[in-house]
Amino acid sequence: METKRPFLGIYFECCRVYARIYPNKEGTHYVGRCPRCLKPARFQIGEGGSDQRIWRVR
Ligand SMILES: [Zn+2]
Repeated sequence: METKRPFLGIYFECCRVYARIYPNKEGTHYVGRCPRCLKPARFQIGEGGSDQRIWRVR
């Protein structure tokens, strides 16, 4: 059975690419990397109750 994982859409301004990042094991942060330059991105989960699904990373 397929498990649906939540994800966050990230726009990496460093390389002008869009990517998805997924929660870490602990479920505390979304973590991922820019697909081109591998710059790390990290966002706390559940803070402020934001429904925003796309974030920008510089
Ligand atoms: Zn980049």
